Amino acid sequence: MAAKTPGLVCAHHHLYSTLARGMPPPPKTPTNFQEILEQIWWRLDAALDLEMIRWSAMLGALEALESGTTAIVDHHESPNAIEGSLDVIAAACAEVGVRVLCAYGITDRNGAEGAKRGLEENERFIKAGGNGLVGIHAAFTCSDESLRSAAALADELGVGAHIHVAEGVGDIEAPDRLDGLTSDAWLLAHCVHLPTNHSLRGTILHNPMSNLNNEVGYAKPARFTNPVALGTDGIGGNVVESFRLAYVMQRSVDVTCGPDTAWSWLETGWDLMPEARTDEVTWSYDPMDPWHIAFTPGIRPLEVKVDGEIVYTDGAPTRVDAAEVRARAAEQAERLHARL
Ligand SMILES: [Zn+2]
Repeated sequence: MAAKTPGLVCAHHHLYSTLARGMPPPPKTPTNFQEILEQIWWRLDAALDLEMIRWSAMLGALEALESGTTAIVDHHESPNAIEGSLDVIAAACAEVGVRVLCAYGITDRNGAEGAKRGLEENERFIKAGGNGLVGIHAAFTCSDESLRSAAALADELGVGAHIHVAEGVGDIEAPDRLDGLTSDAWLLAHCVHLPTNHSLRGTILHNPMSNLNNEVGYAKPARFTNPVALGTDGIGGNVVESFRLAYVMQRSVDVTCGPDTAWSWLETGWDLMPEARTDEVTWSYDPMDPWHIAFTPGIRPLEVKVDGEIVYTDGAPTRVDAAEVRARAAEQAERLHARL
């Protein structure tokens, strides 16, 4: 027995974080979200070069495919390898056969020049025909000028922006800082500490596993009138897993809710990357119904078609050698961890 669905969409991913697993622990154990950013992610992203970014994206794309995810909304940062980084990610995903919507997350935490170069990377990539949004790390690491420039560039290019919003308490000023800048095409990741009544437009990207992992709290996305979509925030590309966790987290504060709401969040991904609707995943389980999936662990794809082509079958990708991707990614992880 097998059921089919369109290709799933991971609405918030960081492909650059795939090689973080097994990295050496930071000198001091982080005690809050700000310290997790400073001691883990901002050290890791600063150490990335284009070759590491390539194999990180290859492995991340492969793992997405192995989970039935054919489309990734990626948010990238590599302050010492900005120029060309989005091309590298797009090419890696294309090689594996996964769709990607790229963004370079601009920030002023490495100086105003860094923000400017990040903005230029978004502009260059999108103007060259790349599938992209304008990336912004978060309001709390950007000047008002950078936020305004990013919003203006997004308007000019006719795309949205992809930004972290009020993920931790350190970014509670985000709704004021972003007031008047957002549009319905914006993607607002996390929104854990965003007030229920706020003025921001765009789709809220819920990342339940990441939020638990960082002790930032539960976003309670059902309270918002904005559309809500599901992501992983870089912890793999398995959106079925995100759905199952989103359901039980909602259930943990409202025992009357069913899985249909969390499933509708997974379906919102198709509004962000509509081309994934034409992809086809044949699953190991039938029926692919929210009540079944919520309580069935280990559901996996048997076959994945992207744009009519079989890119995954019999437990393996068809375009790349999974063992080689894992081996090359492990080599790059070793280089990366040595730098840390
Ligand atoms: Zn994120």
